[in-house]
Amino acid sequence: MIITVDGTAGSGKSTTAKLVAQRLGYKYIDSGATYRALAFLVKKNGIDPKDENEVVGLSEKLELNFNEGRAILDGEDVTEQIRNEEIGKLASFCSIYKRVRENMVALQHRLADEENVVCEGRDIGTVVFPDAEVKFYIDASIKERAKRRRKELLERGIHKKTSDIEKDIGERDLQDKTRVHSPLCVPEGAVVINTTNLSIEEEVEEVIKIIKDSKIQRFKD
Ligand code: C5P
Repeated sequence: MIITVDGTAGSGKSTTAKLVAQRLGYKYIDSGATYRALAFLVKKNGIDPKDENEVVGLSEKLELNFNEGRAILDGEDVTEQIRNEEIGKLASFCSIYKRVRENMVALQHRLADEENVVCEGRDIGTVVFPDAEVKFYIDASIKERAKRRRKELLERGIHKKTSDIEKDIGERDLQDKTRVHSPLCVPEGAVVINTTNLSIEEEVEEVIKIIKDSKIQRFKD
């Protein structure tokens, strides 16, 4: 059973996907981490992100693994290092290249080495797992997403103005939605959930209920 969760930056899709996977005992795959790991390597190696061949070259060799939720890149734990807006922006920039996307999709398929998977990202229901059994698209108002991100940053001791965060995520969404290859969009057949007025618990409950209903329906069919 493959469950896909796509959506905008800061929509709560990662937290939801992680909790749903935990509750169902499924493997959780954070596809964004693969693009972030690439961005991390681009920065570390001082590569110009506009140099497509160089970026593609790095994406060919990239090996990322998850160990108890930690992102391990070539043996190095990069979990914290890839979780900042600079890397997020760079990941979004590097993800526009077709050959980069092909390499990342191949890596994501390798990571989905178990029967039951919850995979989260921007093109999961459209490109990575187009035949998934249940698909979700998660969104929330930009104001609410910026507010949540600000709280999350404050918990990590980082102070940032809500208006600056709003600008950052707005720009990233625009880039992800308007790129030529695999743009972010609502996959055909996906259940759209707007989480602006939902708590994370309510969101997880709703997703689990839809998955269970779909299992019952498929059993009947
Ligand atoms: O989800 P996350 O914020 O970690 O993703 C970082 C960036 O990686 C996104 O803004 C997007 O450009 C890219 N991405 C993508 N396709 C995915 C997952 C992430 O293009 N499936």
